[in-house]
Amino acid sequence: MPVADYKTYCQMIDRAFAGKYAYPAINVSSMATASAVLKGLAESRSDGIIQVSTGGGASASGSMVKDMALGAIAIAEYVHRVADRYPVYVALHTDHCQADKLDQFVNPLIEETERRRAAGRPNLFNSHMFDGSALPLKENLDIAVKLLERCRKSEIILEIEAGVVGGEEDGIQAKASAKLYTTPEDTLEVARRLNAVKGGRYLMAATFGNVHGVYKPGHVKLKPSILKECQDAVAKAHGEKARFALVFHGGSGSTLEEIREAVDYGVVKMNIDTDTQYAFTRPIADHMLKNYDGVLKVDGEVGSKKAYDPRSYLAAAEKAMAERVKQAVKDLRGGGTTLFK
Ligand SMILES: [Zn+2]
Repeated sequence: MPVADYKTYCQMIDRAFAGKYAYPAINVSSMATASAVLKGLAESRSDGIIQVSTGGGASASGSMVKDMALGAIAIAEYVHRVADRYPVYVALHTDHCQADKLDQFVNPLIEETERRRAAGRPNLFNSHMFDGSALPLKENLDIAVKLLERCRKSEIILEIEAGVVGGEEDGIQAKASAKLYTTPEDTLEVARRLNAVKGGRYLMAATFGNVHGVYKPGHVKLKPSILKECQDAVAKAHGEKARFALVFHGGSGSTLEEIREAVDYGVVKMNIDTDTQYAFTRPIADHMLKNYDGVLKVDGEVGSKKAYDPRSYLAAAEKAMAERVKQAVKDLRGGGTTLFK
């Protein structure tokens, strides 16, 4: 199917929320990793989300260009071109964008969608994340409100974050003193400010001890019950319909119970990067170790063209990453849930 349109994307989110399942949102930075996600989703008969980070976009644009927005556009164009060969819906999203990067990343991407819509073409991205979690909540939401007003006009969903996810992603290290748990008061304020933007639609990344990257057990205590407290507070203040569609960041290394509990409390999107990075690289390491004298020209030999042709190990990497995507779909109870008929 083509990339999901706004109506389909909203339906995906609503169905997942009501049915207590969630979509994997997988970071990609190349055609091979994007293909791996599409294959994994298609083989699971699950819809899902492909996302690009600022660093992933810069990488995809080429080492000489290093333009995060341009690389994200190139990946999105690629997905738009190939997605209709897969029997599921996929939505395109951009990951963490801090306030100081908005002008290099999210704003030019929204402009690109505005240009496309003016020419009668579909949106480039379905949703963008603004990560103002490093700012005081008021400043965070002042920016989020402005962005949501602009996104609403082009049927773009905005993801925001309240509270700080620990760990490191794209070289942004959370401070040790950062708030690792969102409070019900924070979420009430999010609802008060963002629900006032009529017709706007947003997802909220709440933090409940999540950490980016993988750490040995015991590093931080994950408390999915925080999500329940936040949802109960907002339902009490604004009614059942006000419950948030939540995003789970920094979930690598979480137990299945923790993942399922978070989904039970309204998580509809779970970001996955570290685990799929490892899944992609693992068979490449294997290939290099097994074909040592094929991928290298040892002692004046010529190596083996078949072994060092990138297609050989990239095919293995794509397959392994697709398997990890399938695992994520299973963990999130998404198997067979595609809206594509
Ligand atoms: Zn994140």
